[in-house]
Amino acid sequence: MAYTITDACISCGACEAECPVNAISAGDDKYVIDADACLDCGACAGACPVEAPQAE
Ligand code: SF4
Ligand code: SF4
Repeated sequence: MAYTITDACISCGACEAECPVNAISAGDDKYVIDADACLDCGACAGACPVEAPQAE
């Protein structure tokens, strides 16, 4: 299980600093989550203004 960031992402960067394992980084047109590192904690979803991080 891991969170993924949908196309709703506006690349604001707010989630990156909230991730306890630094699994989030800037991608080409949205931020992306490293599924192997993600702990499924949901902190990114709580920080996002557009609900882009979604649990799979
Ligand atoms: Fe990081 Fe938690 Fe979001 Fe996974 S769910 S990317 S561990 S903040
Ligand atoms: Fe994208 Fe939401 Fe992260 Fe901002 S907080 S970079 S909109 S996923």
